[in-house]
Amino acid sequence: MTIPNFHGTVLTSADEGYDDARGGFQLAGWHRPELVAVASSASDVAAAVRYAATRDAAGRGLPVAVQNTGHGTPVPADGGLLIDVSGLTGVTVDPGSRTARAEAGARWRDVVREAAPHGLAGANGSAPSVGVVSYLLGGGISILGRTAGHASDHVRAIEVVTADGAERRVTAGSDPDLFWALRGGRANFGVVTAVEFDLFPLKRLYGGGLYFDAEHVPAVLATYREWSASVPDEMNSSVALVPLPDLPTVPAPLRGRHVAHVRIAYLGDADAGERLVAPLRGVAPRLVDNVREMPYSEIGSIHNEPDVPMGYHTTHALVGELPQHAVDALLRLTGPGGSDAPRIMEIRHLGGAMAKAPAVPSAVGHRDAAYFVAFLSPLAGGATADGVREFHDRLDAVVAPWKLGHALTFLYGTNATVENVRAAYEPDAYQRLVALKREYDPSNLFRLNHNIPPA
Ligand SMILES: Cc1cc2nc3c(=O)[nH]c(=O)nc-3n(C[C@H](O)[C@H](O)[C@H](O)COP(=O)(O)OP(=O)(O)OC[C@H]3O[C@@H](n4cnc5c(N)ncnc54)[C@H](O)[C@@H]3O)c2cc1C
Repeated sequence: MTIPNFHGTVLTSADEGYDDARGGFQLAGWHRPELVAVASSASDVAAAVRYAATRDAAGRGLPVAVQNTGHGTPVPADGGLLIDVSGLTGVTVDPGSRTARAEAGARWRDVVREAAPHGLAGANGSAPSVGVVSYLLGGGISILGRTAGHASDHVRAIEVVTADGAERRVTAGSDPDLFWALRGGRANFGVVTAVEFDLFPLKRLYGGGLYFDAEHVPAVLATYREWSASVPDEMNSSVALVPLPDLPTVPAPLRGRHVAHVRIAYLGDADAGERLVAPLRGVAPRLVDNVREMPYSEIGSIHNEPDVPMGYHTTHALVGELPQHAVDALLRLTGPGGSDAPRIMEIRHLGGAMAKAPAVPSAVGHRDAAYFVAFLSPLAGGATADGVREFHDRLDAVVAPWKLGHALTFLYGTNATVENVRAAYEPDAYQRLVALKREYDPSNLFRLNHNIPPA
């Protein structure tokens, strides 16, 4: 099987390498594309899009999906053309202009590696293994977000192949509408081959994790809620309730315990950070406390999320507020001694710079959200997405009264419905996205994604 002017590898289900190319970080729901086009350059991406757009004699297209790491697969690319961009891994940093350019296959760890030696940082998320481009196009809730703002606000230029197969370099000056739509509308408007974005000076930060044992979880959550409402924009934090397995891979003090893990990323000096964190430390003795002054290059250790592929089901909400009685209800379901369902709950503190209007407007919505609340059920040991769905419905119902909508970057799998995608935007922004989709992709060639149908 060949695609005209395509110099990478084209795979069908009969070919060796097909399973590797279609697989990814999320193990619960592999897609079965008709073809996988493993791109070796931006012009390969353009050739694949042109092929998909006009594949049969009747001019009917083959729907296009894109994949880098597979951390955030929205809908299965069944029957479509999956463009695998994971081989385009180039990252360059220009310390003079404090910018980086990342190709479509780059991950945040690649940016950290290139930027940190220059004392520079990007608005990365919690996991260094996540892809840069998809995160930036989806809004990007950064681990430094209260200080740095939405990651997508730092994008300066986007290299993209649009549905007509053209390779374009899109900026606020060249194509204001498309630039607005791509930052938030993501894969709906094309396959992005590289992004240029701002970096900011950051050598060291005061960060790490405070781990508390099960008996202290209610007090930790109550203190965290009040404390987070009082901290300056330089303080970035979250808390997760995690039942940890009794395995040698887990640090000995945490093994087999249901912990509250408070994560800190303070962009100020260590003394001020220590004073700010003192009320949290005062709640109870910590099982592990590794909050300290650290180089930016170690930022991935703050959340310390696993980077081995796994199956999981998640739901989440961006909320305008989170009253104590809602926290209490969540605790009864997700805390120690709660449901038997496999569950992790995370609350991230938003606001600060994330609430400010960006210098160049984008489609990203819900800037007024105060917290991001997420639920994750690992699908191991026989647990299935269908099996945990009813439990997630109950969790979602608890936060529903304060829900503003969704964050596109965290809509995966069966949650990436047209309705949930719509709820990632303000209503007028969604209408503008639909109109621009009609202009740039009227046949909805790019529909195997967080789809915004053109009609
Ligand atoms: C452990 C973990 C931690 C995370 N932490 C954060 C966080 O702190 N903040 C946050 O905001 N999100 C976070 N996420 C979510 C993450 O940002 C999204 O899942 C993101 O989409 C992953 O991008 P990817 O390229 O790695 O994944 P992929 O699954 O490869 O991409 C996801 C989707 O993005 C689109 N896409 C990918 N590449 C392109 C491209 N080149 N052009 C156009 N569209 C493209 C496609 O529709 C694709 O299906 C986290 C996810 C995980 C699993």
